[in-house]
Amino acid sequence: MSVDTVSLTGWGRTAPTTALRFRPRSYEEAAATVLGCGPRGSIARGLGRAHGDAAQNAGGSVLDMTALDRVRAIDAAAGLVVCDAGTTLHRLREVMLPLGWFLPVVPGGRYVTVGGAIGSDAHGDNHRAAGSFARHVTEFTLLTADGEVRTVHPGTPLFDATAGGLGLTGVILSATLRFRPVTTSLMAVDTQRADGLDDLLARMTRGGHRPYEYARIDLTARGRATGRAVLVTADHVPVHALPASARRTALALRPAPRRPGGLPFLSGLFGRLSASALNEIGYRSAPRSRTGELRSLAAFFHALDAAPHSNRVSPTGGRVHYAFLVGHGQEETLRRIVGRIARSRCPSFRAVLRRCGEGGPGWLSFPAPGWNLALDLPAGLPGLARFLDSLDEEVAAAGGRVSLTEDARLRPDALAAMYPRLPGFRALRAELDPTGAFRSDLSRRLSL
Ligand SMILES: Cc1cc2nc3c(=O)[nH]c(=O)nc-3n(C[C@H](O)[C@H](O)[C@H](O)COP(=O)(O)OP(=O)(O)OC[C@H]3O[C@@H](n4cnc5c(N)ncnc54)[C@H](O)[C@@H]3O)c2cc1C
Repeated sequence: MSVDTVSLTGWGRTAPTTALRFRPRSYEEAAATVLGCGPRGSIARGLGRAHGDAAQNAGGSVLDMTALDRVRAIDAAAGLVVCDAGTTLHRLREVMLPLGWFLPVVPGGRYVTVGGAIGSDAHGDNHRAAGSFARHVTEFTLLTADGEVRTVHPGTPLFDATAGGLGLTGVILSATLRFRPVTTSLMAVDTQRADGLDDLLARMTRGGHRPYEYARIDLTARGRATGRAVLVTADHVPVHALPASARRTALALRPAPRRPGGLPFLSGLFGRLSASALNEIGYRSAPRSRTGELRSLAAFFHALDAAPHSNRVSPTGGRVHYAFLVGHGQEETLRRIVGRIARSRCPSFRAVLRRCGEGGPGWLSFPAPGWNLALDLPAGLPGLARFLDSLDEEVAAAGGRVSLTEDARLRPDALAAMYPRLPGFRALRAELDPTGAFRSDLSRRLSL
């Protein structure tokens, strides 16, 4: 097992802290690390794609799980996979797609581990249809603070505390996942432009039959254009829709187009003007209305991965990813927040609005029925902390919540209103891990 002392951040590159990083190569090495961790405890880490400090542990241990990445068993008839927690969604896609199975839930990046996807209970563009990641986990094994390995099933408190539990109940070692059947590696994509937030909400509420849906909002537009957006909906293409000549290669892995690595030409483009210009280009270059465009799975789901180190061009101090959700019926709050961001002239990037469906069982899972808006902001913006605190207050007052896995700055007093099942989570942790073997910067900051 390799061990080193490293400075770690989340994907947003804010708040670096130093920890002892262990990289276990077996379940036994992982158990020895947990049992031997000092008073600052330990936390599991996947590929560090969570934007905030959920997978950091200042002055303690971090278990880098990426060497535990074996696909252990596949049931090709049932679409079931047993794999180590460090296996990436990218690898699972490569293994399962030629067999006619696809990931049931795809978060924005494919370089995410199975352990990270369960620990965050990740969700994708199809949340209304498929729920979040943990819904598709039929069991997992969990290394707990006493060094035991427990097999955990849905419908149990330990499952519900661990799904979205941010690594604080233990280290997931392996999981069994249920995939969804597909007959091609193509998506049929519809695109339309909405000229303001009301138009967008009306289009999304009217909906359609496509299970995947997201809107890329221009949060720099103001006045009547406030909240203008490009709305994208999509579904898998069935094989019978392809010409006969293309059916033999229907399930072929088709790579996404690559963008230049590191995007050096974008460095420094985090100012107000450049944010407006990029949002303007994104909006204007989208078709007003187009249906049935064919895209590969990679091009549809992993456009962000085409620039694998895009976070390296973060502005000085990194970027804050603000992801919140308000319920249906709270559209006025959403309108107010979008209006406030637009009027504040914050240079916001990559703002995405989704509708979420029924929440999962995870006590600290983020998705719940309603509107989920996520955006990136330069961390060094003057007055940003106060501004986001005031947005938190609006979100909490509307019965909404901020995503913990993406968070690096929420104040603990805002938490209880957002996550009503927090007392149960704390009680289970106190019983399962009385000495606090599992801790992170996030858990200390928010007293989880
Ligand atoms: C470009 C981009 C787009 C994204 N889009 C989405 C999206 O659409 N929807 C969404 O939900 N998320 C999204 N995310 C966030 C990302 O999917 C999650 O943060 C995911 O958890 C990251 O996985 P990871 O392997 O990198 O885990 P890490 O970031 O390393 O860890 C995340 C959390 O999981 C815990 N964890 C990791 N491994 C284990 C384990 N083996 N056992 C127990 N706990 C563990 C950690 O302790 C931590 O609390 C996006 C991130 C990026 C960078």
